[in-house]
Amino acid sequence: IPRKRFGQNFLKDQSVLDDIVSAIAPKPTDHMLEIGPGMGAMTENLLPYLSQMDVIELDRDLVVYLKKRFPADKLTIHQGDALSFDFRTIGASSENKWRIVGNLPYNISSPLLFHLMNFSSCIEDQHFMLQREVVERMVAEPGNKAYGRLSVMLQWQYDMELLFIVPPTAFDPMPRVDSAIVRMIPRETPEACSSVALEKTVTQAFSQRRKMLRNNLAPLFSESRLIELGIDPTRRPEDLTVEQFILLANHLN
Ligand code: SAM
Repeated sequence: IPRKRFGQNFLKDQSVLDDIVSAIAPKPTDHMLEIGPGMGAMTENLLPYLSQMDVIELDRDLVVYLKKRFPADKLTIHQGDALSFDFRTIGASSENKWRIVGNLPYNISSPLLFHLMNFSSCIEDQHFMLQREVVERMVAEPGNKAYGRLSVMLQWQYDMELLFIVPPTAFDPMPRVDSAIVRMIPRETPEACSSVALEKTVTQAFSQRRKMLRNNLAPLFSESRLIELGIDPTRRPEDLTVEQFILLANHLN
């Protein structure tokens, strides 16, 4: 019985599972790590292509079920919370990076994405099922209504692509909204910037979406300072590029 508190919506549509596996293109040498395997719908479809894989599952009952379902030499199960998981402790080095996959519990998706940013150096790529609206915010470009904090923070660190939309009917129980598969590849050389400074700048800039930058950013930058930095103070936050946000963050006092 799925538990609401763990955001459990299990994938049941085999053609969607096939599409996800083709998008991931698993190889026997991959170090695949699945977050929130549930009853193992994705796990079962990935394992035939791999020599073994790892999973992190919070729900103890599901861990018991997964242990019975999959042989221990094929599946290494970590019982725990992915949000506090140290992705370095389980064997990947920079030559031996993780490929992370997951049909994520939607209630923890943004904290989990931010947690994973700390481990980019040992991650080759990430393929996630998320709420469609969240993926649209992740990949949105300047000028788009969906462009905001999530877009800037993640685009700084990743190349991202919305691969395809998945309808509620693919799950049991059905969620209320569309889902989407996103591919995230950590950028080799993201521009140097403090994540704390960038977060502070972006949050302040978007504090009131429809106001001009000179209003929103007033606590951090004077109008003349914005002009000095080549930023038009009369623009709205959604008009700034990721590079411009980074420039601002690197000039915070
Ligand atoms: N992957 C399965 C599927 O597609 O059928 C299940 C997906 S379900 C949306 C999310 C899964 O993540 C559930 O099995 C849930 O117990 C697990 N989960 C929820 N919160 C978690 C957390 N903080 N860390 C690890 N797993 C979690």
